[in-house]
Amino acid sequence: MSERDESEVLNQETTPNNPPQNERRRFLTRVKDISIGLLIPKSLAKFLGSYPDGDSNPNVPLVKSHQITPTELLALLALGGLLQSSSQATVEADANKTIWFTFDDGYVGLGSKIAAVNALQVPSTFFLTGQAIYAYPGDTQTLVNSGHVLGNHTWNHSNLTRQSADGITYQLGMCEDAAQNVVGVSTKRRMRPPYGAVNNFVRNVAANLGYDTILWNWDTRDWAGTSVGYIENNIGPGIVLMHTQGRNTVAALYDIIPALTAQGYNFAVL
Ligand SMILES: [Zn+2]
Repeated sequence: MSERDESEVLNQETTPNNPPQNERRRFLTRVKDISIGLLIPKSLAKFLGSYPDGDSNPNVPLVKSHQITPTELLALLALGGLLQSSSQATVEADANKTIWFTFDDGYVGLGSKIAAVNALQVPSTFFLTGQAIYAYPGDTQTLVNSGHVLGNHTWNHSNLTRQSADGITYQLGMCEDAAQNVVGVSTKRRMRPPYGAVNNFVRNVAANLGYDTILWNWDTRDWAGTSVGYIENNIGPGIVLMHTQGRNTVAALYDIIPALTAQGYNFAVL
C-alpha cells in the first residue's frame, strides 16, 4: 500500500456529527450524544459494488448513522464482544467518560506514538499491518510489553471489500502470523479494515475467523497532517481514529490528555 492511496481514499471521508471547532470547550465540559456511522466516499463506494442491503447509492452511509448515547455505545460494544476484561480496561466506568484511542498502520512513526502514550499513561490499541510488525519488531514488542493491545490491520493494507473469502482469510491470517511470530500474541478479536472499507461479506468472513470489525466514532484525520486543534476537536467519548504516521498527533495528545484526565475521562483498550 502507499500512503498516497490511503490519502486519496480517506480524503473524502466524513464522520458525521462531530462538534464544530468552536464547540470544543463546551464538548469537554458536557456529555453529548455521539454518532456511530461512517459515510463512504464516492471514490471508495464505486469499488464497493452493491451494498448488502441492496443500496448502491454512495451517498448513503454504509453503516446507517444514528444518534446513540455513550451508555448505549458501551452496551453495543459489550454485546459485540469487542471489550475484554483487562486490568487497563475501564468498561465498568462511566461510558460517557471513556475514550478508546486507536492507532493504525505502523509503517511510519510507530515508536514515537508508543513513547507518547506510554509517557501519558494512555493505554491504546494499535492496528498494525503484518508488514509493519515484521518491519518494526522492537517497537511492536515495546507496544505489547507496555500493555497496549495489538489488533489486525491486514497483511499489506488491503481493501478487503475487493478480496474473496480466501483473500480475506489470507490477509488476516498473515497479519496474525506476524503477531504470533514476532511478539507471540494474537490479534484476535480485533480487526480494523484498511480505509474503513467493509461490507457484510467482509464482516462475516472476518467473524468466522474470530474477528470483530472495529471502525471508529471520531476521525482525527491526523494522517493528512491536520492541525493540533483539529485533532483535539475530533477526540471524544468512544473510539478515536489516529495513525502512527500522524505529524501532529503526539503534540495533540500531550496538549489534551491532561485536560481530559482532569475532567474525569478515562482511557481504555479494545
Ligand atoms: Zn490503515
